[in-house]
Amino acid sequence: MSDPVRIARFTTTDGEPRYGVVEGEPGAEVVAEIVGDPLYRPIQFTGDRHSLLDVRLLAPVIPRSKVVGVGRNYAEHAAEMGGETPAEPVLFLKPNTAVIGPNDGITYPSVSGEVHYEGELAVVIGRICKDVPPDRTAEVVFGYTCGNDVTARDLQRRDGQWSRAKGFDTFAPLGPWIETDFDPADRELSTTLNGERKQHGRTKDMTFGVAALVSYISSAFTLLPGDVIFTGTPAGVGPMQPGDEVSVTVEGIGTLTNRVVSRG
Ligand code: MG
Repeated sequence: MSDPVRIARFTTTDGEPRYGVVEGEPGAEVVAEIVGDPLYRPIQFTGDRHSLLDVRLLAPVIPRSKVVGVGRNYAEHAAEMGGETPAEPVLFLKPNTAVIGPNDGITYPSVSGEVHYEGELAVVIGRICKDVPPDRTAEVVFGYTCGNDVTARDLQRRDGQWSRAKGFDTFAPLGPWIETDFDPADRELSTTLNGERKQHGRTKDMTFGVAALVSYISSAFTLLPGDVIFTGTPAGVGPMQPGDEVSVTVEGIGTLTNRVVSRG
């Protein structure tokens, strides 16, 4: 295994978005800038380095075509939603216009009164693929990041399907970076709201693991570089209010934090 590589997308005060490798100890990280988009070319350093404190992190990837969500993929969450564990993965799509980055605001829609967090492990696809066998998914995965599958629960119930409820602008926070050397089999996942832990699970408790999901999803949809899969949320989902701060932490990746803002 190579050293873990954390790929961030960032801006400085006057620059265009660019990519870098995050290095160093927690609290003293440096972003080593790289040439171009690492989805499409090998990592080559420009030589420019920035303190992590001096850059603004952006969503580490802008999905080229889609964010694929997986519903009820942890048994305890399926139970809290009043449903059975499904026999096959339940898929939905979130538009790429819902993606935001670390510290961006989650906008509370005026038409909803019940916006929930769903902390999740997110898979970033690295190459075009179709009908991927489960034992070959590592070849098509670029890396992993934290995701928050923000959901207007009242609209999810009212609409009967999930496109609007899960597809509002800002409802797909991703970040803080993509970890490219990561084994998703058994990682701790937690979500806090205003510092209080609300969700806590392990990825081993997914009904369908990452390999099964990539295979199943790619049997339906061609996946493109930069497409993202939200792998489902453990139990403990609940409401957020404007002003709340929500953080999703995946062991071995990092923490994605966003604040909820009112539409105003
Ligand atoms: Mg979800």
